[in-house]
Amino acid sequence: MSIIKIKVDPDLCIGAASCVTVAPETFELNEENKAWVLDHGKNPDGSVYERTIEVTEEEKENIILAAQSCPTLAVFIYDENGKQLFPEQ
Ligand code: SF4
Repeated sequence: MSIIKIKVDPDLCIGAASCVTVAPETFELNEENKAWVLDHGKNPDGSVYERTIEVTEEEKENIILAAQSCPTLAVFIYDENGKQLFPEQ
């Protein structure tokens, strides 16, 4: 398992929903047509664009795939030390 931080920049998100298609347990469109971040399908503390969750390696790879699928690169992924995993710098 690893801990990752997932952040959506709502100013960049255009509601294209490819992240939702690739990782529906992690991303959902809110009423403003922006992707918010879920923790394994759950959203206990309302509409948040940033969340730190624990994931398996497989889940992590899938979430990175989802970020790669975003046409505006609105999804940022960080490891537990704050290093940006995607987009690669
Ligand atoms: S793929 Fe990108 S633009 Fe589309 S909903 Fe997700 S974050 Fe927003």
